[in-house]
Amino acid sequence: MDKDIAIKAGKKCDFILKSYAKIEKEKDKFIVNILKYNNEKYTLKPDVVVGADGVKSLSAKISNIKGSREILSSCQLEFVNVDIDDDFVHIFFNKNYSEHFFTWIIPLGKDRVRVGLLDKGDSYRKLMNFINNNKVAKELLSNATPVEFSSGALPIGYMDSVKNNLILVGDAACHVKPITGGGIYFSALAGKIAGKIITEYLNDNKNLVEYDKLWKDKFGKEIKEGLKFRKIFLGLSNKDFETIFRVIKDSEIIEYINEYGNMDWQVEILKNISIKLFKKDKFLFLKILKDIIF
Ligand SMILES: Cc1cc2nc3c(=O)[nH]c(=O)nc-3n(C[C@H](O)[C@H](O)[C@H](O)COP(=O)(O)OP(=O)(O)OC[C@H]3O[C@@H](n4cnc5c(N)ncnc54)[C@H](O)[C@@H]3O)c2cc1C
Repeated sequence: MDKDIAIKAGKKCDFILKSYAKIEKEKDKFIVNILKYNNEKYTLKPDVVVGADGVKSLSAKISNIKGSREILSSCQLEFVNVDIDDDFVHIFFNKNYSEHFFTWIIPLGKDRVRVGLLDKGDSYRKLMNFINNNKVAKELLSNATPVEFSSGALPIGYMDSVKNNLILVGDAACHVKPITGGGIYFSALAGKIAGKIITEYLNDNKNLVEYDKLWKDKFGKEIKEGLKFRKIFLGLSNKDFETIFRVIKDSEIIEYINEYGNMDWQVEILKNISIKLFKKDKFLFLKILKDIIF
């Protein structure tokens, strides 16, 4: 995907330089120091610097932009030789495997799956524990062959994204869904907004802060409210999960999810599911409410 974007961008700009760079502050502006392989360094002083440098973002660090975030760690293995129904995704809410998030088996066709886990720290050991001990995983993967391994960190949080001539996009600005950990969709939305605002800034002298306002209007609420649901999620036990899913399974809520479930916009659906759960089981809902308040 990166190469596709470079090809598109390359047709509309003077040059693309692929290199390691360090964003630094010079008076009230951010500049870019590029380090070449022979330790030669040269400095660019652009009108706008876009910090799209991921979860370990140096640009976010140097900018001192305020916000709070937690960092989760993820591991994923891709397997072939798996016999799976590719109409279904398996999500495991089980704190014995992932204490702070969940574990998944996602089909990529009838004989290929991605098995992954997101949690705080040591996600590789936790994923292996899941693969070796979970009954469903053991059964599905009994003849499977691993073909790819990926790992990395994910930021969950909410923050500002503009300081002087620097704007942050993607993981650098926590553009990640707190409920599923997906970051590609929001990062792409933010990138599009950033492109529009930078053009207006350069051509019409508009304020760059407009970028911060626009992405927050578009999906800031989804992140903020997603964080509230995450707080509730962290307070639930394995027993709570079992009760919640039993109520959902034995009611019309499952049909509602099948019809309206949306991977990109999750908060509204979760709110409606919560209302339906309240109507079904007030005691369970009161426990959830207690977790929000305390
Ligand atoms: C194992 C795993 C599985 C995931 N699966 C999904 C999924 O299925 N769906 C989904 O929506 N999201 C998924 N995510 C999250 C998603 O990958 C990220 O949210 C998304 O890639 C963020 O894009 P980004 O461009 O902000 O950051 P990145 O993709 O991390 O890109 C940042 C880039 O900046 C470069 N860089 C950093 N510092 C410098 C520097 N100083 N100089 C030059 N370059 C620099 C890096 O090399 C990197 O190329 C997953 C994450 C992980 C870890």
